Amino acid sequence: MHVLILGGTTEARRLAELLHGAPGLRLTSSLAGRVASPRLPPGETRVGGFGGAEGLAAWLRAHAVDAVIDATHPFAGTISFNAARAASVTHVPLLALRRPGWVPVMGDRWHEVGSLEEAAAALPALGRRVFLTTGRMGLSAFAGLDDLWFLVRSVDAPEPPHPSRMEVLLDRGPFTLDGERELLRRTRVDVVVTKDSGGAATAPKLAAAREAGLPVVVVRRPPAPEGVTVVADPEGAAGWLAERFGQQGLPGR
Ligand code: NAP
Repeated sequence: MHVLILGGTTEARRLAELLHGAPGLRLTSSLAGRVASPRLPPGETRVGGFGGAEGLAAWLRAHAVDAVIDATHPFAGTISFNAARAASVTHVPLLALRRPGWVPVMGDRWHEVGSLEEAAAALPALGRRVFLTTGRMGLSAFAGLDDLWFLVRSVDAPEPPHPSRMEVLLDRGPFTLDGERELLRRTRVDVVVTKDSGGAATAPKLAAAREAGLPVVVVRRPPAPEGVTVVADPEGAAGWLAERFGQQGLPGR
């Protein structure tokens, strides 16, 4: 059985680790190629786009793929729709592994917005020193805010256009509450911007902002394709495979 994991997330890598070595299972993980030195999962990997839904459908046929697991980031909207379309035309079973979104708790001062542009529009009324954790793509939305100072945290260095007053912190999760507390204190940040990425690895910034009483601008998730079965964690995805294909040796059997 050949399983294609559309990856680029911690969960995708964990799923590959979980499935790797199962008898009779060929595993390919696909990465978009956005990160210069990604943490590679076990099993085969391929890097780069497929060429839209049609390209992905052709790849599924050419490589005799039996199941696709879309474990891409909740904000990677295009590839998820491409996967749904390609799976539908090739009749290859598709599962989405999507971590649940974050939920505000008592003490949170969240401002939910629909896009990075809306986040940028909300900022001047909320603070002057911004901790921007939305990644290096999409920084152009904040480029015109010359009165604000930005701490931008990303895996690779951002390219212009980006805010004019900006310090870059190259780092990748998981992050700790102690570390996030110290970062907010040291940089005197007074507002945080995040996507509703969900998951534990980057959640400590929310707790640190809550403790410090800081507002957080939360960008809501883009729409996901309808009619696709969704699981919340790698164990659920392994269980789906085991149930559907009855493979001995798969976790969950
Ligand atoms: P996107 O907007 O949904 O996809 C744009 C194009 O990139 C797709 O049409 C596809 O090109 C290619 N692509 C995306 N994911 C791919 C994958 N896993 N394997 C092969 N090609 C892929 O995606 P994005 O937001 O740019 O994200 C790119 C990657 O970064 C994803 O793997 C995602 O899981 C990861 N990531 C994204 C975010 C985020 O906030 N967006 C955060 C963390 C990680 P073709 O049409 O040519 O096939």
